[in-house]
Amino acid sequence: MEQSIESYIRNLVRDVIGQTLGGLQIQGDRQTYVIANWKMNKTLAETAEFFQELNSSKDVTVVVCPPAQLLYPAHLFIKQSGKPVHLGAQNVHWADKGAYTGETSISMLKDVGCEYVIIGHSERRQYAGEDDSLVNMKVKQALSAGLTPIICIGETLEQKNSLQTEEVLASQLFGALNKIDSSQFIIAYEPVWAIGTGQSATAELAQQTHTYIRSVLKQIFGEKAESISILYGGSANESNAAEYSKMPDIDGVLVGGASLKAKSFDGMIKVFAKGDQN
Ligand code: PEP
Repeated sequence: MEQSIESYIRNLVRDVIGQTLGGLQIQGDRQTYVIANWKMNKTLAETAEFFQELNSSKDVTVVVCPPAQLLYPAHLFIKQSGKPVHLGAQNVHWADKGAYTGETSISMLKDVGCEYVIIGHSERRQYAGEDDSLVNMKVKQALSAGLTPIICIGETLEQKNSLQTEEVLASQLFGALNKIDSSQFIIAYEPVWAIGTGQSATAELAQQTHTYIRSVLKQIFGEKAESISILYGGSANESNAAEYSKMPDIDGVLVGGASLKAKSFDGMIKVFAKGDQN
């Protein structure tokens, strides 16, 4: 993964101190991500234009997740631009290959340069009937091929209003991570009521929820949970990014609408890159 000399040295120091101090708990210096989820948007020409305009930054890990048919051209545009941008997919099938019309396998994603894959987005849960056990199968498939799953979890407005947020998140986490040893994944907390609505969660609420998510991850992975990045997603944009970037447990953002314009996505990258140097 691309990282600046500063964050490389910080990670090294943390690892050395961690070994020297043995069991003492040290706040992990987690990787910061700014990730674009384009959903079902953009033509080939618009994709080319986006990568020409994007500036990016080495101080955060920038991932762009275009629709499946734009993955390979996007891979070529990124290579051509020489910019520090990684490629991710929006979905993957759980099987290696076979009679699954319209689906995309993990080796196909790998073949076209993907390093990341979004799994369990609420739109797939809602429109494609994906449940936690299917999410779990897809996470295993991604990990087995060395791709980093970006696992989306989040409560609906109804669940929030009936105070079920924690229960829903815990059950989604235990379901998605069932029988998984590796902690090489990213969690994206995306409250369904905040996605595409302009009603973003306040940074304080997101921080509080991320703290809870980390406590559940600790039940599953112990202290390794400190190194798992937890991103916020849901109407994040250039104006509210700074507030999120100040929170200790918000390790970046997963961005839908505001990632479609290179300029606004760049603005968010800059905010988090600055935060990473604090
Ligand atoms: C998303 O769908 O992952 C998302 C965060 O969308 P938006 O930023 O448009 O709310």
